[in-house]
Amino acid sequence: MERRNFIATLGAAAAVSGLTLRAEPTPETVRLTLLHTNDTHSRIEPFGPGNGAVSGKGGMARRATLVKELRSQLGNVLLLDAGDVFQGTPFFNQYKGSLDYQLMSMIGYDAATLGNHDFDNGVEALLKAMNEAKFPFVNCNFDMKGAPALAKRVQPWLVKKFPGLKVGITGVCVDFQGLVAPKNHEGVKWLDPIESLKPVIKHLREREKVDMVVLLSHLGYDLKGGGIDDRTLAATLPGIDVIIGGHSHTFLDAPVSIKNSGGETLVFQVGFGGVNLGRMDFTLAKGAVKASSGGALPVH
Ligand SMILES: [Zn+2]
Repeated sequence: MERRNFIATLGAAAAVSGLTLRAEPTPETVRLTLLHTNDTHSRIEPFGPGNGAVSGKGGMARRATLVKELRSQLGNVLLLDAGDVFQGTPFFNQYKGSLDYQLMSMIGYDAATLGNHDFDNGVEALLKAMNEAKFPFVNCNFDMKGAPALAKRVQPWLVKKFPGLKVGITGVCVDFQGLVAPKNHEGVKWLDPIESLKPVIKHLREREKVDMVVLLSHLGYDLKGGGIDDRTLAATLPGIDVIIGGHSHTFLDAPVSIKNSGGETLVFQVGFGGVNLGRMDFTLAKGAVKASSGGALPVH
């Protein structure tokens, strides 16, 4: 069996059986698990029959159960989303995203970023749906000076604290050009993700003294030269430990390691529609990631 499949299988088995994968941490080390989704696209219910490989999979009730089980087994857990919660089913046409954010709040999301489709009904409608979200939104490559109400709701970065551990979280979105109609992002300007991230990473590392930087990226995994994507970003910009990706609906079985001048960045993305839940486990010591494993857990 390929290593990454093995890890994915192991993760899934552990999720089901409740087994702990590794020995107890020593006093100097601390553990963290990241659980994540991307491009859930208003898939409140599981996919029905006739949807090929995703038939019968997903559904927010099942996602809630899986997250609850994992949280009861694990210590430090963050549940994150990489954007495009909106658009895709009649639930979106009816509830304009407010139902999605309401259910995500009930599941206990810790933070999310915005994708291009989250602007599909414009900034005002997005803000209205965000009233239902009991979690923060992060993005650092929007200039929101022209949309002050959105600027209040979307922060450039945040820090989540656990005993002996600080995790910095930020977010970036794909270029609006050709994806979001100008009237739907009125007051919001798209800025270069790499240039926007540089000062944020520096601030998180040097001022906030975080042990780990997590990027929620709605750029896409591999755009094959069609713009800055997660693979290019990871290879170009050091200082990010993990990129939780979205936008390209890429089904990865396990995180992919990409080398850069600072070491490595892990990139992961779990398809779309809430079919899978991403899981990444980390052991940290002395302010740095020492070991990690992860896989895509099927939601069924
Ligand atoms: Zn997208």
